[in-house]
Amino acid sequence: MNKTQSDRQHAHIASYYAAMQRPRALLGSLAGKVEAQVTIVGGGLAGLTAALELARRGHSVILLEAERIGWGASGRSGGFVSPGFAENIGAIERRVGAATAKQLHALSVRGVDYVENTIIAAGRSDIIGGRGWLHVSRSAKTGKLRAWRDQMVHAYGADMVFLEGGPLQSILKTDRYRAAVADQMPFHIDPLAYAELLLQLCLENGVCVFEGTRVNDIGRNGAAFVLNTRLGQVLSPNVVVATSAYGGPVRQIERSILPVATYVVASSPGGGRLADVIGYRGCIADQRRAGDYYRLVEDEKGLRLLWGGRITTRRSEPAQLAHMLLKDIRDVYPQLDGLSIEYSWSGLMGYARHKMPVIGEISSGLFALTGFGGHGLNTTAAGALVIADALNGDRSALELFGSYRAVWGGGALGRFATQLEYERLRLIDAIDEL
Ligand SMILES: Cc1cc2nc3c(=O)[nH]c(=O)nc-3n(C[C@H](O)[C@H](O)[C@H](O)COP(=O)(O)OP(=O)(O)OC[C@H]3O[C@@H](n4cnc5c(N)ncnc54)[C@H](O)[C@@H]3O)c2cc1C
Repeated sequence: MNKTQSDRQHAHIASYYAAMQRPRALLGSLAGKVEAQVTIVGGGLAGLTAALELARRGHSVILLEAERIGWGASGRSGGFVSPGFAENIGAIERRVGAATAKQLHALSVRGVDYVENTIIAAGRSDIIGGRGWLHVSRSAKTGKLRAWRDQMVHAYGADMVFLEGGPLQSILKTDRYRAAVADQMPFHIDPLAYAELLLQLCLENGVCVFEGTRVNDIGRNGAAFVLNTRLGQVLSPNVVVATSAYGGPVRQIERSILPVATYVVASSPGGGRLADVIGYRGCIADQRRAGDYYRLVEDEKGLRLLWGGRITTRRSEPAQLAHMLLKDIRDVYPQLDGLSIEYSWSGLMGYARHKMPVIGEISSGLFALTGFGGHGLNTTAAGALVIADALNGDRSALELFGSYRAVWGGGALGRFATQLEYERLRLIDAIDEL
């Protein structure tokens, strides 16, 4: 296969982010035998950050990516960077206790800071699109939202304000939302541009990166792991598996992850009309389970609406994806009737049953760094730092994830049960809105 064919075979899906990228030739795939102190499998944000931080700590690192860097969820996401995990803070407290929950939350904030500092230190503030997050509620029962805001402010030091009525409607021109909490810390980014920045930093720090290189299996040869690819082999005493929902080579890790799909569209440039209706440049997401999440993005053609929503455990993309999300947009903003969609795509998030990341040593030298669910932009960074510290001899943060191990996700039955639960929760949300 020549270089152009292999570029095409491992191309990104046709997302807005991919269209905004300057094309880059695929890095070479692995051929022959190589060795490294640490091998990372998977070139999403988790794998890239782990590779970079291990290289910065002096390890020799190889990163193997089946497609191309950022090809998975990392290069397709909504781009919201915020503290916390896919699991809500109440459930974390109940499982691990308030003290450990605080330590875990602090790690998640460390992840947010890491992303921002990395972007700023590289002089790439163009990757950041806007700041702040409006958590909007479609229900008139605002007690839960207020209680959550109070808890985050008083127990976790968040900077959040409660909004309703006129002040809220002057920002978002819709009568769908009854209340909101504005959080100051989050921001949004072009996630694919960020993945490319991490790649550049990895290469500058001596990481050997191979694209178009799927790891088919991992065996043992004495103290070293042997990773087999189509044309090559890596020998390494330490392996970090960061393959999320896209199928990894270690059965125990793969079986613990439930792939859940979600969808995103980007509109054609909508000019002043969009800015009149949506007067907020940060992240906006409604509080329903798998509700809408959206933001305004700007490129040389003007302002666009980037809108995500819905989740499903079905892997096939709906034929009418753009039409489906356009209906969701019009449901909130009927004034945007006539807006057209230029890009639509889907992506898979990897969820463990406990909805927390799976970060741990599965067997001596073999680490899992996966299961970030729909909240991976900060937690992949936080998790990667935890793994890098652990491989450097400091396991204190790794131990915080001891209650969240790689447990079987239930296979097809697990997917079915999750879909049922999602439909049940959507029904409760719909009733709440009445
Ligand atoms: C549409 C969408 C919207 C989202 N929005 C947000 C958001 O706004 N904010 C947020 O915080 N999170 C969001 N998320 C979640 C977030 O994107 C993920 O949690 C995060 O990117 C996961 O990163 P990762 O590196 O673990 O996995 P991925 O980015 O999926 O990377 C895994 C990589 O492993 C590679 N791979 C798999 N198997 C092999 C193998 N055998 N050999 C070599 N390579 C292999 C894949 O090709 C892939 O590139 C969203 C996710 C999706 C899909």
